[in-house]
Amino acid sequence: MNFDQITEPIDRRLADGLTRLAAVARQLDWQAAESAGLSPTQADILRFVANRPQGARLTAAAAHAGVRKATASDAVAALGRKALVHKDADASDSRAVALKATAEGNRVAQAWPSSFAPIVAGLSETEQETLLGLVVKMIRQLQQRRLIAPQRTCVTCRHFRENVAPGTSTPHYCAFVGAPMAERHLRVDCAEHESAA
Ligand code: SF4
Repeated sequence: MNFDQITEPIDRRLADGLTRLAAVARQLDWQAAESAGLSPTQADILRFVANRPQGARLTAAAAHAGVRKATASDAVAALGRKALVHKDADASDSRAVALKATAEGNRVAQAWPSSFAPIVAGLSETEQETLLGLVVKMIRQLQQRRLIAPQRTCVTCRHFRENVAPGTSTPHYCAFVGAPMAERHLRVDCAEHESAA
């Protein structure tokens, strides 16, 4: 008998572990939503909209929250009644509507606790940097396989120059900021992101 015979495949154990971490984060998020008087979907959409001061489309907010457009529309209506989100004309298309956070909506979103913060807090700085690289890689792969909506990560940004200085401590470069980047500088949701596609 050896451990290869009695151990479940590593991908299954990884999936089990990640599922547990996601459940803890979801629970913390729901507690925060409850104390703010919001449903989890409303909380998700509010934070998505607040991160896009130029305005967000309803379809994009629905894709981000992983809900149908009708469900997102109900959540936006509830956020409107609570004076957290309002509708405005879209600057890029006068026939379209852009969702924007009100001052109070921005205040609620900015005060939102990070549900994964207590989960990653036990890792060293180096471990967090390694994990960030892996998370960005997984997001990129999911996006390439069209399993998630487009995300504002460096690796899909037209300003990103990947590994232009291999072997150095800052192998990447951001043409928007005009500065070299280390792995720890990679962004997952950058306001200046412009799609490379
Ligand atoms: S603009 Fe933002 S997303 Fe794009 S490369 Fe620079 S830091 Fe990354």
